[in-house]
Amino acid sequence: MSLKTKSLCSFKRSALADNFVQVQKIVSSPKFICPKCARVANESNFLCKAKKLRG
Ligand SMILES: [Zn+2]
Repeated sequence: MSLKTKSLCSFKRSALADNFVQVQKIVSSPKFICPKCARVANESNFLCKAKKLRG
């Protein structure tokens, strides 16, 4: 399974656990936030409603 094809928002808890190393990379220096799901990512395509984090 590739994280590139799926948004972090739609991940189930088990999928997050299974991909924990990759998930850590995605959220470690976030540039985007999803206001709907309160998730963050370094690339907008990991989020369903990506908004730029200010900073
Ligand atoms: Zn979302």
